[in-house]
Amino acid sequence: MVSQSGRVPVHPQWCVPDRCGHLVPPVLAHMGRRHRGVLLKVGEVRPSGAVASYLIEADGEEPRVTVHVACRAGTAWAELSFPQAGQLVSQLRSLLVQGGGGHGGN
Ligand SMILES: [Zn+2]
Repeated sequence: MVSQSGRVPVHPQWCVPDRCGHLVPPVLAHMGRRHRGVLLKVGEVRPSGAVASYLIEADGEEPRVTVHVACRAGTAWAELSFPQAGQLVSQLRSLLVQGGGGHGGN
């Protein structure tokens, strides 16, 4: 969010100052001037790839969950709305259960 003056950014509670696009240069071009939260990472890039996720919010819009996938071929990402992120969580949980590796959590 930005204050009424439009000059001073108002950071959401989850925004991390050393990652916020308003405060530091963006890591990737599409991230410019957007609030970013803590980077959460799973997996190694070799050999099976890695997934990173974090919250991102453009000024005046709802926050979204960004999911990056990195592998030897490159990096791609998706910005998911909260309902879509919830869908992803459900699908992953279902896959864990299907594979017998679920912890039965909710
Ligand atoms: Zn911020």
